Amino acid sequence: MPPALAIHGGAGTIPALGLTETEAAAYHAGLRTALRAGWAVLAGGGAALDAVTEAVKALEDDPLFNAGHGAVFTTAETLEMDAAIMRGSDHAAGAVAGICGPRHPVEAARAIMERSGHVLMAGAGAEAFLRGAGLEFMPPEYFATAWRREALRRELARLASGAEDLRSDADRHGTVGAVARDATGTLAAATSTGGYTAKRPGRIGDAPIIGAGTYADNASCAISTTGTGEIFIRFTAAAEIAARIRLAGQSLERAAGDVIAELATHGGDGGLVSLSATGAPVLVFNSAGMYRGFVAEDGALHTAIHREPYRQG
Ligand code: ASP
Repeated sequence: MPPALAIHGGAGTIPALGLTETEAAAYHAGLRTALRAGWAVLAGGGAALDAVTEAVKALEDDPLFNAGHGAVFTTAETLEMDAAIMRGSDHAAGAVAGICGPRHPVEAARAIMERSGHVLMAGAGAEAFLRGAGLEFMPPEYFATAWRREALRRELARLASGAEDLRSDADRHGTVGAVARDATGTLAAATSTGGYTAKRPGRIGDAPIIGAGTYADNASCAISTTGTGEIFIRFTAAAEIAARIRLAGQSLERAAGDVIAELATHGGDGGLVSLSATGAPVLVFNSAGMYRGFVAEDGALHTAIHREPYRQG
């Protein structure tokens, strides 16, 4: 089975003209770093679960992406991060919601999967468990970045004035995620996010909801989504795609493309990266762009932001 890897760094109305070549190059470089981190695992014969963990950790460390360092703020100027991870061979899954502490929220999700006996933990109880589990913790200042604080300030001012929302989605939200298939044919998915700017404290998105923003099942597909979390939850987006493959015999391409198009009709903008037991990664979105990338069978890295041809690196 040829290994495969795809990642995303968030979807939305990324302004094509507002992004300078230097800025675009920085996003491409961040995506390539994450692809290399995940691919090193797979090329060495490692597990899909480790590959998605490493790829997402790299994106969490990059302040350009809304996860870990660089996450967006709530209305209370706090940071509340969500993440999930899942393995397709046995449906093992772990997720965490509303935390600020672990340097890598994806590792927090994985510790919950492997060591808590639970699937989803939230808030202070989750943080206490993760401290006890020995995860690397960072102070809130580590996650906070000036441009995300400025984005919150602008959004709070806009909400107070009642003005129309003219922001780009890149300003407002994001999310990072990865899907991988290893040499044994096992699939895995992981997603990590700060949610969206000026979300209410306590709000939880689709990323940590198994079957909504994150899902992996060897018999159908692995999926990591980004976009309007509430809509992805209400339509159980990832599980819906898996069900169409399993029960209706649809291809991943068709099921993922149809579901993303249907979500758009309900106000759900965004996209996803996905993999099935065979074949190349499927990356789809209904928004203007999605930071994304995949590794081709020959090991070449492909990254893109809008609908332009992929850059190879
Ligand atoms: N899906 C994420 C959430 O709702 C946000 C995003 O991907 O932009 O928390």
